[in-house]
Amino acid sequence: MVGAGLGGLSAACHLVGRGHEVVVLERADVPGGRAGLWDVGGYRFDTGPSVLTMTGLIADTFRAAGADMAEHLTLMPVDPMYRACFADGTVIHVRHGREAMSAEIHQTCGAGEAATFGRFCDWLTDLYRLELPNFIDRNFDSVLSIARPLRPLLSLVRLGGFKKLASAVSSYFADERLQRLFSFQAMYAGLSPFDALALYCVITYMDTVEGVYFPVGGMHAVPRGLAAAAAKAGATLRYGVTVEAVTRSSSGVTGVALAGGETVAADAVVLNPDLPYAYRDLLGDVAAPRVARRGHYSPSCAVWLAGVKGSLPEGATHHNIHFGHQWAESFDALLKRGETQPDPSILVTSPTVSDPSLAPEGRTSIYVLEPTPNLDGNVNWVARRDLFKAGLVERVAALGYPTDAEVERFVDPADWERQGMARGTPFALAHNFFQTGPFRPNNVDKRLPGVVFVGSGTVPGVGVPMVLLSGRLGAERVDELAASPRS
Ligand SMILES: Cc1cc2nc3c(=O)[nH]c(=O)nc-3n(C[C@H](O)[C@H](O)[C@H](O)COP(=O)(O)OP(=O)(O)OC[C@H]3O[C@@H](n4cnc5c(N)ncnc54)[C@H](O)[C@@H]3O)c2cc1C
Repeated sequence: MVGAGLGGLSAACHLVGRGHEVVVLERADVPGGRAGLWDVGGYRFDTGPSVLTMTGLIADTFRAAGADMAEHLTLMPVDPMYRACFADGTVIHVRHGREAMSAEIHQTCGAGEAATFGRFCDWLTDLYRLELPNFIDRNFDSVLSIARPLRPLLSLVRLGGFKKLASAVSSYFADERLQRLFSFQAMYAGLSPFDALALYCVITYMDTVEGVYFPVGGMHAVPRGLAAAAAKAGATLRYGVTVEAVTRSSSGVTGVALAGGETVAADAVVLNPDLPYAYRDLLGDVAAPRVARRGHYSPSCAVWLAGVKGSLPEGATHHNIHFGHQWAESFDALLKRGETQPDPSILVTSPTVSDPSLAPEGRTSIYVLEPTPNLDGNVNWVARRDLFKAGLVERVAALGYPTDAEVERFVDPADWERQGMARGTPFALAHNFFQTGPFRPNNVDKRLPGVVFVGSGTVPGVGVPMVLLSGRLGAERVDELAASPRS
């Protein structure tokens, strides 16, 4: 196993639980990859994902390694899940649970919209129940397999999955604020809600219906817990070890070569590094699939992490979305013109609201994320970096947050690329229909017997829930290899 990101750790848990001998080789000093940790001056910052959903999939991953999640991880519901602040000065709290959210919508948008919310959640649930087993949590052996069996595809058409996402959501809600709140999740898949298909509302299901959680000790507790569970089940995890190449013979993989000359023999090699770079750096003579080379990558983001003195503005919660005036225009700028948002919508997360132990006594930690174009866009990050960061911090200050940082870190798309993420985006290949399911780079490649890919560059896709599933699907591929030994 190369890499202890969440995709790699999930694969390790599933493989060790199925009786395979597993060695995980990770170049960093801690597990987690993008779900990283910055431990500085008494602060513990999560550097990647902040919105945790689908906790059942995390529990399944622990269970695969014979572990009980409760022994490794304590999850707290985040309620409100988001405080949504609109440019007209109004605020809607996205609440945990249908009843609480219906009451909030009733109060802020009226009885009609509240009554619709229940119907909307039922539709999201139907979509999820149909899509998970048939299109998400499964391996594909050919493009045609998406229509085998045909009935789920027909059901997806019947549920309206092939309409546009924004118009599907606006068929439920007339209030433009609710339309934004239940469609912005398309951005998690790298898409504008105006262009995405409604079937991607399955992402809205993940937070709106399943709820948002936060682990005691921060998001990094998830990879730490999974790594501990895999180790307890018998996997070997080595940190500070960089893999330089996958070694192969005429009949398939033989193992990996490490920086420093050591080799590790293996019957199968599971690769968790970002897929385009895994091909380029570790599988030198085999080109990445066309869609990975020529495809459309998700927008990226800039992140400002700060440990600050002073308290949060009144009403601030764990996750605060500050919407700009413009909406469709923001997506056009990011996705069509490759420019920064003219009137940015940003996420301000303060994990110390849920777990004050993540900062020294009396201090607050802030995580600010602004979506940006990826490196295919038209921003020169070397020239723009300082000005962009200053503008972001100024905006955060104008919203009332303390910005007097005693520790801080700023990450832009060029930094993501330096960390090994293709096109400078941590969100991989976008989830356009023709880059999803059987059209996404597969987790096996006929040219590379014995190699299996996991993580956000392969199936099913981006985000913590998806990469956990990618680990399970990767383990299934290793089992297939074990069942048909090489000649
Ligand atoms: C700022 C940010 C915000 C995000 N927000 C959310 C969110 O709120 N919710 C959500 O669900 N998702 C979110 N995501 C996305 C989510 O974090 C990723 O989809 C997921 O963590 C990717 O996991 P992975 O296993 O595919 O890859 P990675 O985490 O990148 O793992 C790959 C691992 O391979 C290792 N590696 C690479 N090359 C080598 C080598 N040669 N030798 C040894 N090891 C190597 C790397 O060090 C790394 O540990 C966010 C990501 C970022 C960065």
